[in-house]
Amino acid sequence: MTDLLTALRAIVGDSHVLADESDRAPYEADWRGRYKGRAICVARPADTQEVAAVVCACAEHGVAVVPQGGNTGLVGGGVPRVMGNEVVISLSRLNRVRAIDPANNTLTVEAGCTLAAVQAAAAEHDRLFPLSLASEGSCQIGGNLSSNAGGVHVLRYGNTRELTLGLEVVLADGQIWNGLRGLRKDNTGYDLKHLFIGAEGTLGIITAAVLKLFPPPRSRAVAWVALASAAEVVNLLGSARAACGERLTAFEIVGRPALELVLKHIPGCSDPLRTPADCYALIELTDPAADADLSEALQAVLSAQMDAGRISDAVLAASEAQMRSLWALRENISEAQRIEGISIKHDVSVPVSSIPEFLARADAALREAFPDLRIVSFGHVGDGNLHYNISKPVAADNADFIAQTLAVNRIVHDIVADLGGSISAEHGLGQLKREEITRYKSPVEMALMRSIKQALDPRGLMNPGKVL
Ligand SMILES: Cc1cc2nc3c(=O)[nH]c(=O)nc-3n(C[C@H](O)[C@H](O)[C@H](O)COP(=O)(O)OP(=O)(O)OC[C@H]3O[C@@H](n4cnc5c(N)ncnc54)[C@H](O)[C@@H]3O)c2cc1C
Repeated sequence: MTDLLTALRAIVGDSHVLADESDRAPYEADWRGRYKGRAICVARPADTQEVAAVVCACAEHGVAVVPQGGNTGLVGGGVPRVMGNEVVISLSRLNRVRAIDPANNTLTVEAGCTLAAVQAAAAEHDRLFPLSLASEGSCQIGGNLSSNAGGVHVLRYGNTRELTLGLEVVLADGQIWNGLRGLRKDNTGYDLKHLFIGAEGTLGIITAAVLKLFPPPRSRAVAWVALASAAEVVNLLGSARAACGERLTAFEIVGRPALELVLKHIPGCSDPLRTPADCYALIELTDPAADADLSEALQAVLSAQMDAGRISDAVLAASEAQMRSLWALRENISEAQRIEGISIKHDVSVPVSSIPEFLARADAALREAFPDLRIVSFGHVGDGNLHYNISKPVAADNADFIAQTLAVNRIVHDIVADLGGSISAEHGLGQLKREEITRYKSPVEMALMRSIKQALDPRGLMNPGKVL
């Protein structure tokens, strides 16, 4: 591999080929610490041409590449496998804003821009880029595109796929496809960008994108609502939608055990309500008009529900700081769960109307099979997307707990499939669900996916062992 390292150093410069074990280490393990692989080296190209040259050099040596953005992915897609024969390509240095077109409401950015930097670039021009995730300070737009990230504003603006107009991609043979078109209408054959969005780096390396922008919200209202059941949460979602329409920007569900983990582990977080409830809804309304009275609109929805006895308690944020502290209760759940210890995670979606049934059936089936497991559920209920996570019993051994993963997954995923849902709503398949998906997608769909992979990456050098 000395030849390959020499070639890569000639392309990106000595200091941007990380071959020492300690330099490689942060790129070889995932955020949750569940996947730890080994790479020949990490290459850090500075621009699209260098990405293409790195891909070509690796292909010439028959070496597979693993594209990596902010490495916040939750399914082991961005880290190398254990064999030590892959090159990680870090996109972090492709971090320029290439263009902004306020009249067209588009922003052209390179893949290595963090999501927070993309949001800031839009804000500088009085525009909103609405994708929003708890990992936004670290994750990169290339990673968001490759995992078709969702987050808390899908309800109003759609997921990353729906926010994208054009892409630039380095293909498996090193060719560069320039599809950086800022068009909202373009029916000229197959829409190729959609192949690469959500492909988790298995079809090509995204190097830049044209993204949609929106008017920024100038009014905002946020409420934290206590409810007796998930059925009541879904009922409240329907009422809020009917009353507030497009102003409803986020509608999240948080189960009591998830809130308790945040209160236990995250300094500065406190329960905004006096009496504990089974579950909570976090509701956000926004409007581009500065004088929209959103608090009044939200108050009206909540009062009607309270009068009908469907809400036990609620708090409406009275200041920006209070809005932030209510959001912190939701956004810190993943971090709190990480601190609490190992967990078996499920990122599932079902039709919104089936959420209560899913929770009732999955809770009952799991409690019967594994009475000591702790169910920590929360998520984007407005999108029908739940993070249905199972925490280790307090006294259990990590290895014993993890040994139950397949059995736990089977129970949860079979119920999801029975309700017409998906076993990966927004995190992708990566290494985590690569085998599992074959049980739930039809042979026809799996064969179509394999044909696309074969057509675009016939040598199997783009992030092998992920997705398929
Ligand atoms: C605290 C926390 C909260 C999160 N909340 C959410 C959430 O609400 N919604 C959600 O959807 N996700 C969420 N995630 C998951 C994660 O942040 C997203 O999946 C994010 O989009 C990954 O971006 P990244 O840059 O970190 O990608 P990485 O983890 O580096 O990579 C993800 C996948 O994309 C591939 N990839 C990365 N960059 C490129 C590229 N330029 N070209 C081709 N392939 C590439 C990788 O090979 C890998 O398969 C959360 C994660 C954390 C840690």
